[in-house]
Amino acid sequence: MKAHLLFAALALAATSFAASTGSPFYGDPPDERHPWCVHDWNRPQPPRVEPQPYKPCPPPDGAIVLFDGTEASLRANWVADKDGAPTKWIVRDGAMECVPKSGYVRTRENFGDCQLHVEWAAPTKIEGESQGRGNSGIFLPGGPEIQVLDNYNNPTYADGFACSVYGTAPPLANALRPPGEFQQIDILYRRPIYKDGQCICPGYVTVYCNGVLVQDKTQLEGPGGHMRRTKPCPLGDGPLKLQDHGNPVRFRNIWLKPLPPRTEPEPGIHGPMSIEETAALRKQIAAAIREDAAKKPAGSLEQMLRYAESLVYEKDDPTFQKVDQMAAQYVASVKALSADKLEGKKNEIKSIFRIFSYLTKHNIVPAAFAPRADLETLIKAQGWDKEKK
Ligand code: MG
Repeated sequence: MKAHLLFAALALAATSFAASTGSPFYGDPPDERHPWCVHDWNRPQPPRVEPQPYKPCPPPDGAIVLFDGTEASLRANWVADKDGAPTKWIVRDGAMECVPKSGYVRTRENFGDCQLHVEWAAPTKIEGESQGRGNSGIFLPGGPEIQVLDNYNNPTYADGFACSVYGTAPPLANALRPPGEFQQIDILYRRPIYKDGQCICPGYVTVYCNGVLVQDKTQLEGPGGHMRRTKPCPLGDGPLKLQDHGNPVRFRNIWLKPLPPRTEPEPGIHGPMSIEETAALRKQIAAAIREDAAKKPAGSLEQMLRYAESLVYEKDDPTFQKVDQMAAQYVASVKALSADKLEGKKNEIKSIFRIFSYLTKHNIVPAAFAPRADLETLIKAQGWDKEKK
């Protein structure tokens, strides 16, 4: 695990925090076993690894073919997730294609532990960026999502990368083929074992992307989800689901081999970091962000936010004092604005208020943080709190 820590530190240095232009103050903050926020843009991007060329991977004996390229196969095995009605997804050129806004699809049958093969292709026409480009998802029985996303030259937060366990674990590598080409994803899904209500062995997932190992017995931490860190829990039988995230992603050659559930604990599952490693890495992350903050224009909003961001990883009194003072100055400056200038700053002020609220909600700054209360008063006085988003 020491090597893991060193790797993370080197990756931090290499990625440079200046490139962090995503959304801090968004997903759940770090805790004692998780050094990063959920959906953390400071978390290093998976390294690029050139994938194997495409080699057909037909279903082995004993596999259940869930899609063989035909309309009949789509209709026989898949329905709309929301109501079990025939799905509006279509079959084109031997692939089943997500029709945006038609909703998720799910298998008619329920499954549990399994080996799964899925091939997917993002649209050839590149549209959108980050999570907006070729997004779909493979939802394993019981909940966890193996992310489907076009990350070919498309950075996103690391735990939302293609082949991440969404919201939990980035893939070990980015081994994607270009958009339009089919990606071959092989998944071994092992659910946790519970005895008398106690977990005796955590669940895990092993994933290959185009022949490259990208999840190595990665411990599952509950069903996972957007912005929220979930906790380990039993994962029941359920259908396999594919996500409609608004992009016409195509799927083909989907087969699943059911496996008997495990009964005995097994070694070698990669869980979250130890408490000591987490604390050490959080310190490093905070120090790197403070260093970056110091380079921003003195007294700027950008600098205040970067200092505030460092507090998410490590409480540091001198930094908090800086943030407190800069935030008070910011509030005073907006209060001094004329009515029309204030209106022009509405979106900025509302977003700063959301950030201050994130900091108090997660006890990163004291609940009595005055700049938050002052902005709330100002927003209410302007009637901005009653406006729809
Ligand atoms: Mg998705």
